[in-house]
Amino acid sequence: MASDPVRAEAVIDLGAIRHNVALLAGRAGGAATMVVVKADGYGHGAVPIARAAVEAGASWLGACSVAEAVALREAGITARLFSWLDLPGTDFAPGLEAGVDLAVSSRAELAAVADAAARTGVRAEVHLKIDTGLSRNGCPPSEWQALVKDAAAEPGVRVAAIWSHLARADEPGHPSIDLQAARFQAAYDIARDAGLDPLRHLANSAATLTRPDLHFDLVRPGIATYGLNPVPQREDLRPAMTFRSSVVLTKRIAAGESVSYGHTWTAAKDTTLALVPAGYADGVPRALSGRMEVWLGGKRRPVAGRVCMDQFAVDCGDDEPEIGAEVVLFGDGASGGPTAREWADTLGTIDYEIVTGMYRPRVARRYA
Ligand code: PLP
Repeated sequence: MASDPVRAEAVIDLGAIRHNVALLAGRAGGAATMVVVKADGYGHGAVPIARAAVEAGASWLGACSVAEAVALREAGITARLFSWLDLPGTDFAPGLEAGVDLAVSSRAELAAVADAAARTGVRAEVHLKIDTGLSRNGCPPSEWQALVKDAAAEPGVRVAAIWSHLARADEPGHPSIDLQAARFQAAYDIARDAGLDPLRHLANSAATLTRPDLHFDLVRPGIATYGLNPVPQREDLRPAMTFRSSVVLTKRIAAGESVSYGHTWTAAKDTTLALVPAGYADGVPRALSGRMEVWLGGKRRPVAGRVCMDQFAVDCGDDEPEIGAEVVLFGDGASGGPTAREWADTLGTIDYEIVTGMYRPRVARRYA
């Protein structure tokens, strides 16, 4: 099969991942750490991230679905695995056979898991989810007692944990956090009254960093693993992903010449353009046209004109970059270059969406 040279690549610094996980595991204190690797490790590659996370102190890994979790097991990952966003109709049997803990939010899910346990002969380790106020999945408090009772009575099932998810942990001090924590405590009391002794987990990255009182037995950091800080205070996290490409062509244009579709940018003086072979098909949002800079030759330089499907141009002024010179679209920002957070702020989104958006076939991945 023919293969093209790399147009754009996400370079993942596994040392940064290990640093971040060690920091989070340290902050978790006596609680265990479940690193969230769903959506292919937030676009960083689930298996290499899982391995690095385990090396740095994670004892659990969190996945979106049974298929994602089983893929980790098949890659040789022996840590405890938890899957929590399985769709109706999922066959849980492969998950049980691979030793994956399963989330249960409803009696229908409990029945599907119990059915898989009966078919496989493997006892299901379930984590009952209480909806404490995010209002997505999770059992409503009004149905919690019945769910707990049914789960406790189900022979093929063991209630390993109860858990929930916070809506506004990234706004430390917001009253909804304490309200959710109080509802979580009430749900735990009901489980204890039913004779259960489950683990508890509630904290995402933001709560891991800011609410030690909510760490309970296990914390579930996602975004901070990847070095992106969800809370207002400074944290010693290292962004792990650098999105880079290279110069494939340079061209001198005269003052008054315009660039790219729609001629939205016109050279104010004679200048050198560098052509970069990455466009919106490679994860460079067209909405960043005229609103982004790249790091090229030790400097920030503006994009000239529109980002196209497969390429864009950079205004280099009187500099003449070499063909093949590295172009950093975003990275850790340490030397002053752009970051995923900067893209997110310009686009009116969050850095989660930027890095997860690199989970695409035309972006090569390399581990450093
Ligand atoms: N727990 C659950 C249930 C989640 O869905 C997620 C992420 O979506 C996380 C934890 C990790 O959250 P964060 O990336 O904000 O740390």
